[in-house]
Amino acid sequence: MNVSVVLFTSDLRLHDHPPLWAAMEGGREVVPLFVRDRGVDRAGFAVPNRLAFLADCLRDLDAGLRERGGRLILRSGDVVEEVCRVVAEADADEVHMAADVSGYAHRREERLRRALEADGRRLHVHDTVTTALAPGAVAPASSDHFAVFTPYFRQWSAARLRDAVGAPRRVRVPDGIGSESLPSRSGPAGVSEDLAAGGEAEGRRRAAAWLRGGVAAYEDRHDDLAQDGTSRLSAHLHFGTLSPVELVHRARRTGGPGADAFVRQLAWRDFHRQLLAARPQAASADYRTKHDRWRSARVARADVEAWREGRTGYPVVDAAMRQLRHEGWMHNRGRLLTASFLTKTLYVDWRVGARHFLDLLVDGDLANNQLNWQWVAGTGTDSRPNRVLNPLAQAKRYDPDGGYVRRWVPELAGIDGPLVHEPWKIQGAERAALDYPDPIVTLSDGLARFRRARARD
Ligand code: FAD
Repeated sequence: MNVSVVLFTSDLRLHDHPPLWAAMEGGREVVPLFVRDRGVDRAGFAVPNRLAFLADCLRDLDAGLRERGGRLILRSGDVVEEVCRVVAEADADEVHMAADVSGYAHRREERLRRALEADGRRLHVHDTVTTALAPGAVAPASSDHFAVFTPYFRQWSAARLRDAVGAPRRVRVPDGIGSESLPSRSGPAGVSEDLAAGGEAEGRRRAAAWLRGGVAAYEDRHDDLAQDGTSRLSAHLHFGTLSPVELVHRARRTGGPGADAFVRQLAWRDFHRQLLAARPQAASADYRTKHDRWRSARVARADVEAWREGRTGYPVVDAAMRQLRHEGWMHNRGRLLTASFLTKTLYVDWRVGARHFLDLLVDGDLANNQLNWQWVAGTGTDSRPNRVLNPLAQAKRYDPDGGYVRRWVPELAGIDGPLVHEPWKIQGAERAALDYPDPIVTLSDGLARFRRARARD
């Protein structure tokens, strides 16, 4: 036996891929395998936008392997059964894969380890493939994980990251291992009209352009809704078409305040991953409960529907919700203010909002999504859990000229000046002609309801 299997999951790249290098050590043949995992489908994570992006990633990974003399093997089914089947067909003695942080990933790893070991084969799990720093690599004296970002970031910044490694020149794949045909991006219905393209080549192109250009102004522009001054690399980080280790090194080499601020956001990503790794139940249960008796999606049906559709009557909220549907992506400032609106102004359970985001976001990620939702809802790691973002104040600050609202809410595109954020102030015939709803709740009523609810805590 001189064959290894590399199981690709959220690491769909050839550059900086330690499991692939380890699998090839000593000139071994490798079976690069991706399994369309039935467990992921069953958990509701296989949604059209991410399936379309995944199709791009798999095609690009296959193309990259073919350039190096290999190819990607695709299977569908139960991930453990499929890996064991391929291991038997190739007579492989070891499997390499990246470590991941969710409860599902931990169970998958354990099941796979047991199945392989029962058959005299070995599983090697590699850290720092899907994170820059491994979860648990730094920890406070009193706990197994950090619950506060600032001290985490201090230690994260001081820790030495491993060096990034290049892509292999050649990958030798054994003959005779069957593969399903690769999915195509046009497959799933319900894909957002302006969904970004996936794949390692596209991720590397975007990262290079970002580090050459946009990152320099990141510190000043990242919160400006209309300018779109962020990297848009999140889906590439989620699918692993970019390596977080390599990205941190390259951003640090770029240098400057913009690159520093960008690296800090990459540390937020690791922060949430170390938290979920230590507390997998935080994907669905309050991390620090406030004993909320949230309004459910059933009780607050009309409000939740208006929020999902971008018809709440608050232009900046509606603009962001429509961007989400149209692009499968939303600006971070939009995510913050729409999540605050749902959980605090409408007092709806954060899980309802998190589910809707996961249904649409191309970067939808259990750690980042659920823990950011908890942060906004005040059940997570925010040290000011009762803060409420006022959508009007947010709009005036982060969309001062109204360009974001005019782009995404065409009904309001003809309104000049600051009234674009307060269309309810328009009067007479002009108001009557507007096909745009009145606010579904007044901000003062929403705030009072939230304060009453939290006062019970
Ligand atoms: P940039 O500003 O260019 O940041 C670079 C990278 O840093 C991002 O790609 C991302 O990987 C990481 N990052 C940035 N902000 C955060 C943050 N607050 N927490 C953790 N990592 C961060 N991010 C996801 O990747 N997937 C999600 O499902 C997700 N859901 C979110 C839900 C809510 C309610 C909120 C408030 C935030 C969520 N985020 C999520 C974090 C953040 O909004 C996105 O990562 C960011 O908007 C992606 O755009 P970008 O790549 O241009 O980010």
